[in-house]
Amino acid sequence: MSMSECDAPAYELEVEVLVVGAGACGCTAALAAHGAGAQVMVLERDATPSGNTSLSGGQIPAGGSRLQELAGINDAAQILEGDLRSKAKGLSNAEVVKQVAGASGSTIDWLVEEHGVPLSCISNFIYPGHTVPHMHASPSRFGAEILASLLKAVYAEGIDLVTSARVVDLYRDRSGRISGVRVQRPDGVSEDLGCQALILACNGYGGNPDMLKKYIPEMAAAYYHGHPSNDGDAIRWGEMLGASLADMGAFQGHGAVCTPHNIHLGWPVITEGGIQVNRSGLRFSNENEGYSEQALHVIRQRDHVAWTVWDQRCQGIAAQMHSQQAAMEAGAIRECESLVGVASFIGCEEATLQETFEGVESMCRSEAVCPWGRNFESHPPLTPPYYVAKVQGALFHTQGGLEVDQYARVLRSDGSAFDNLFAGGGAARGFSGPSDWGYLSGSGLLSATVLGRFAGVSAAKWVGANRTSCL
Ligand SMILES: Cc1cc2nc3c(=O)[nH]c(=O)nc-3n(C[C@H](O)[C@H](O)[C@H](O)COP(=O)(O)OP(=O)(O)OC[C@H]3O[C@@H](n4cnc5c(N)ncnc54)[C@H](O)[C@@H]3O)c2cc1C
Repeated sequence: MSMSECDAPAYELEVEVLVVGAGACGCTAALAAHGAGAQVMVLERDATPSGNTSLSGGQIPAGGSRLQELAGINDAAQILEGDLRSKAKGLSNAEVVKQVAGASGSTIDWLVEEHGVPLSCISNFIYPGHTVPHMHASPSRFGAEILASLLKAVYAEGIDLVTSARVVDLYRDRSGRISGVRVQRPDGVSEDLGCQALILACNGYGGNPDMLKKYIPEMAAAYYHGHPSNDGDAIRWGEMLGASLADMGAFQGHGAVCTPHNIHLGWPVITEGGIQVNRSGLRFSNENEGYSEQALHVIRQRDHVAWTVWDQRCQGIAAQMHSQQAAMEAGAIRECESLVGVASFIGCEEATLQETFEGVESMCRSEAVCPWGRNFESHPPLTPPYYVAKVQGALFHTQGGLEVDQYARVLRSDGSAFDNLFAGGGAARGFSGPSDWGYLSGSGLLSATVLGRFAGVSAAKWVGANRTSCL
């Protein structure tokens, strides 16, 4: 991986807007740039585009989409903005968050109405930190379905998407603008390609153990549940170019990935009243603070594992998630008629588990206060039969990255913007602040789709303006 000087005329082939990565961000950016009149090509390192997008729950938040209006959900950009800012304790980029929240509703409308992405609102449960139901998802509640529909839209628009094409180097001209890239094929053959604008949509560095050791040492040994191709290329190019990197220690974890099956539970098992206990049958945290911060809580338990316990009511809501169904099918979830069976599955004292459950029941009835601050009053106590799964804390994706402005332009360390370099999705700084606790559910795909769209429009505008000035 390197950065070299090479002027555009040296290239045999040049495209106007080049997009690196064909996940949600790359596809959205490509659709937006194409829609704004640019000639676009997407380069994807894998033979079949997948990325984190296709592994995800596919849930995209918005504040004020037409779908929400039709579903009678009273939401607005300011509400989503407030939720994003407050989950990150005000430590994200205020202007970027404002603009992203502001365009979240229209982006969902655009994806659904112009590109046929089959989204609907999720209104029967609410994620931690969401003050109203912001989430939209496709019927299967699975990101693979979202990516398939985005790819279909990309092909339908006639946008070139080249797979098995890993970008290994960037080139800049003498003025400092990006002039092209080097692409390496699986057989080792390389080719150079010129571009007038470049969009980095190749996610973060969850798949790069060395970068994890450097930036997020507390998660370096944790199980990585994301896509291995996301190995930090955008960040390393940014470093070489003198780009500003921000919140590099931030990440989205998940505190309920079934082990040894490596399938995550749908979070309604917790939001609807489920709990987590350790090997001794004791609770150890406010499970409903957020699934991201719960990863480290679980990792800090003996043997780095815990058990999630929920009931039929929670299961009924969680079962809409693709991953919950997959966990059931894989045998990762045990159904128990009573706490005797749960205690035996965990291997803990039955009396201790019984006491834990009695404590939670008292909290549900407002007769006791949770030592970790969880409010149990909005849901009834868990009742038999119980569901239980042994879980580990995992890393889903990194949240730090290239600092961008509200036009998705990559910024230099001095705050100035690169003319023709844009980023979105996991390649860009997220909205989570500096750590694990700032991740508001759905921020990943929010960044991928909205910043991706901003990046596409901005790149096309830059190319258009440049094209005009050359005439
Ligand atoms: C299990 C799981 C569940 C999740 N659930 C949700 C959810 O419900 N809602 C939500 O908002 N977020 C969720 N996320 C996070 C979300 O998936 C990501 O934030 C989002 O998909 C990022 O999109 P992206 O386009 O930036 O990256 P990706 O989808 O990962 O796409 C990046 C692409 O770039 C390619 N690439 C990398 N390097 C190169 C290179 N050098 N040259 C060419 N191509 C390259 C990769 O192969 C990949 O295809 C989840 C994540 C995981 C792991």
